Amino acid sequence: MDINGSTRTIGLIGNPVEHTLSPVIHNGLSEAMGISSVYVPWKVEADGLEDAIHGAYELNILGMNVTVPHKNAVMEYLADIDDAARNIGSVNTLVRDDGKHGYIGYNTDMPGLRRQIHEDGISLSGKTVVILGAGGASKAVVYMCLIEGAGKIYLVNRTIGKAGKIAEDMNRLVKSGALSQSEQYPFLNETNKGVYTEYDRVVPISLSEYNKISENDLIVFQATSIGLFPNVNDVVIDDPSFYEKIDTGIDLIYNPAETMFMKLVKAHGGIAYNALKMLLYQGVIAYELWHNVKVPDEIVEDMYVELKRQVYKKDNIVLIGFMGSGKTTFGKELAKVRHMDFVDTDEFIEARAGMSIAEIFAVKGEDEFRRIETETLKELRNQLSNTVLSTGGGMPLRRENALLLKDIGKVLYLNAATQVIYDRVKDDTGRPLLQGTNPYDKICTMMKERRPLYERACDIIVDANSNDLDEALYNIQKVI
Ligand code: NAP
Repeated sequence: MDINGSTRTIGLIGNPVEHTLSPVIHNGLSEAMGISSVYVPWKVEADGLEDAIHGAYELNILGMNVTVPHKNAVMEYLADIDDAARNIGSVNTLVRDDGKHGYIGYNTDMPGLRRQIHEDGISLSGKTVVILGAGGASKAVVYMCLIEGAGKIYLVNRTIGKAGKIAEDMNRLVKSGALSQSEQYPFLNETNKGVYTEYDRVVPISLSEYNKISENDLIVFQATSIGLFPNVNDVVIDDPSFYEKIDTGIDLIYNPAETMFMKLVKAHGGIAYNALKMLLYQGVIAYELWHNVKVPDEIVEDMYVELKRQVYKKDNIVLIGFMGSGKTTFGKELAKVRHMDFVDTDEFIEARAGMSIAEIFAVKGEDEFRRIETETLKELRNQLSNTVLSTGGGMPLRRENALLLKDIGKVLYLNAATQVIYDRVKDDTGRPLLQGTNPYDKICTMMKERRPLYERACDIIVDANSNDLDEALYNIQKVI
């Protein structure tokens, strides 16, 4: 990134801040958007909060994220606060306003989660919702459920007083009509408004009394800190009869990718999601507020893949490249020396289909083969670890596949010259795309088309011109 005299500074204030993923999101977005801004974490003690906010303004800092323990306390030092953030009682994003000579506070956790559930196709309208936990995050979840038109919302917590307080605040808010008056919430149509202000929609329940919830088809948000890595086998409720009532479970925890809560929801026939997307979207929404831009969906998708890689640190190596670039030969050897498993997508597909790739092309056509490739990657994505994955030459041509490959592991493009490729494959009759006259010219044309796609799909380009196995392996290992 070009850092120059016009570069803007943004950061995170909180304590601790060392483990934040926000710099990955915001610096990644700036890189992708071509915006010169830098995002850094700042540790701020509680008694230094006011000075930090005023100092940031004087330093012309464009904005800040706010995390624990300052999300409430910061509200005192702001020039203004967005309605939703005020209602939730928690601010996680500050946006500079020169006119007001200070920062405006927003809560982007709430719309971040809202964007996630919309994308995951979860409708809350009229549904019974259970929220496990009444900590800092859960008020935003309750608020989101209210504006999404949920019916009854059970707020289940170990410390019943905390659930009671949130329920009281939120029910008061509903009765005041403040929610339905806002133009931001058009789904609260005339009929809904009448229905939903008539009774207390948020019901506090002590954790020990969760079995008082008698409804079925529940949407459950897991908003406690139970199940967080490394305590991955912990769960706040383990009673099977509770999980039998769940239609959809959303765990606000995203590490591990599949929590014990999610496993139990799935084991009892429900659908389960983690909330890594919420983390990303709260960041994207903050970014859009700071820079007054709309981040294109494609950039958001790429950032999601990058975020998953940072969080889950997949240890697989994925080899892409043209036929004859050495993906299988070098890949098998690489797996051997690094004590990894080896999987070849073409072999995997052939074994499944009971026919060769050439036969699949002949019988089903290239489009169907590409579709099978995509399905194969989706399946392998959840299965592979410590594996070298060798892929078919056309695999990264679809953008969807390129994203899936990065999701699986570190992607290496084995790059070899056209003549080297030709010499390696010219006698191979099992390559459907090279049948016919002038295979050399065909390779030239295809390489020209595919090279930019391989380059876009990979993390690292590796020189794969050598036919000497040791030299080829050396070239691969030195970049890993
Ligand atoms: P918090 O303020 O510390 O609240 C923790 C909650 O967990 C409280 O309800 C607490 O109950 C409950 N809890 C803790 N230990 C428990 C135990 N042994 N048994 C029963 N309940 C227990 O945390 P938070 O800020 O609300 O965050 C909650 C979770 O959401 C965290 O895991 C956090 O990582 C996640 N989160 C994710 C995102 C995202 O972007 N995906 C955003 C925000 C938060 P008591 O009130 O009884 O102590």
